[in-house]
Amino acid sequence: MKVIIGFEIHEQLATKTKLYCDSPTNYREVEPNTNVCEVCTGMPGAKPYPMNQDAIDAAIEIALMLNCEIVRDPIYIQRKHYDYPDLPSGYQRTSLPIGIKGELNGVGIWEVHLEEDPGKYDPLSGKVDYNRSGVPLVEIVTAPDMHSPEEARSFLRELTKVLHYTGKVRPEGGTMRMDTNISLEGGARVEIKNINSVKGAYRALKFEIARQKNLRKRGIIVKRETRAFLETQMITRSMRTKETAEDYRYIPDPDIPPLLITEEKIKQIKSLMPEAPHLKLSRFMEQYGLSRDDAWAITSEIDMADAFEEVAKLYGKPGPAASFFRHIVKKVLGYNDLSFRESGLSGKAIAELLSLRDSGKITDAGAEQVVRTLVKQPGDVRRIIEKKRLIRIDEDHVLEKAVKEVLEENPGAVKDYKSGKAEAMNFIIGKVMAKTRGRADPKVVRKLLIKELG
Ligand SMILES: [Zn+2]
Repeated sequence: MKVIIGFEIHEQLATKTKLYCDSPTNYREVEPNTNVCEVCTGMPGAKPYPMNQDAIDAAIEIALMLNCEIVRDPIYIQRKHYDYPDLPSGYQRTSLPIGIKGELNGVGIWEVHLEEDPGKYDPLSGKVDYNRSGVPLVEIVTAPDMHSPEEARSFLRELTKVLHYTGKVRPEGGTMRMDTNISLEGGARVEIKNINSVKGAYRALKFEIARQKNLRKRGIIVKRETRAFLETQMITRSMRTKETAEDYRYIPDPDIPPLLITEEKIKQIKSLMPEAPHLKLSRFMEQYGLSRDDAWAITSEIDMADAFEEVAKLYGKPGPAASFFRHIVKKVLGYNDLSFRESGLSGKAIAELLSLRDSGKITDAGAEQVVRTLVKQPGDVRRIIEKKRLIRIDEDHVLEKAVKEVLEENPGAVKDYKSGKAEAMNFIIGKVMAKTRGRADPKVVRKLLIKELG
């Protein structure tokens, strides 16, 4: 049964000030209701400032990165009315599309808008914090071009990557919010709200597809409705039927002149735009001779891609460097659930580490241990090697002793090896590596073992 999925995605823009006033946007670090003024709290008679130019530029850049056409007609700012305590003026300002007809990874991008974030309402305490009110958001509306939760997830990951490449969204992440439309072929469309992460979207879609298939199996017609995703319970639940487009009573905001984007502006933004991830990927393959898989892994995050280029320059061997990034750096980051940017790693440190490894001062395992230390906080590579005593063991008698001990401690594996089980050798090497805390060269260990075992 064909599944049809589309998204409406909101991401905060990393501007210093809000969209229609000069209140700061760093609402996370301050007390509630301190980064506010009469505009963003909707005081009677308060007039918006001219639209924040940085936010406009960011929205244009994002639309261009998503391969959109930029709208050259006057773009009106609409008032979208609804009543909720987080919206002091009773309407949210949302632009008509700035970009249209885009595409990313085979998924159509219908529209890119600029909007303002509402405040934060806590229904439990009844308190509202307006620090977030008026923070600029980019809204991205996709075509219903995805057909499984897996496809949806890989699109969202790619989109996240592109947004972070622009440097125009909050680098710390976690500010993406989305609604998704989902239907089974021939069935009604269900909208799911309140999704706050890629993982959440995947889970909500999984659940909702199962729910709709189940209803259909039992001969029940799926209703067109809006459901809320309850992340803690991993289910979707019917919401009070929300307003339709008519209920929002859209009107052009009389206080704000329509936006006009000039050809010159588009040219200027294009000239300053970062390389798109897919272009960087092809360049890395061409310029550094990397495999597609290596280039893909390294360009997954712009900070990692930049660090790789620094390593390629300082260390000089892009092939081995790429392999180290893909197999060691990415693995350790994944294990610690950190991005490159959040980690203490740098291109300079990795270049130094690789040179020390090549000169034989440390082993591959030792290099990985340094990475494990560095991801948690930046540090001096040589000092870490000394402090953690990771210098490679070259004294034969030390290694021979370790080998003998391991053989004595693992008679079963020795027996297996002697009876023809070649894989027992790897087990024994692993034990020697563990005993030497990764400071032995596995090739030397293998030689010693073969000598010992005959
Ligand atoms: Zn304000």
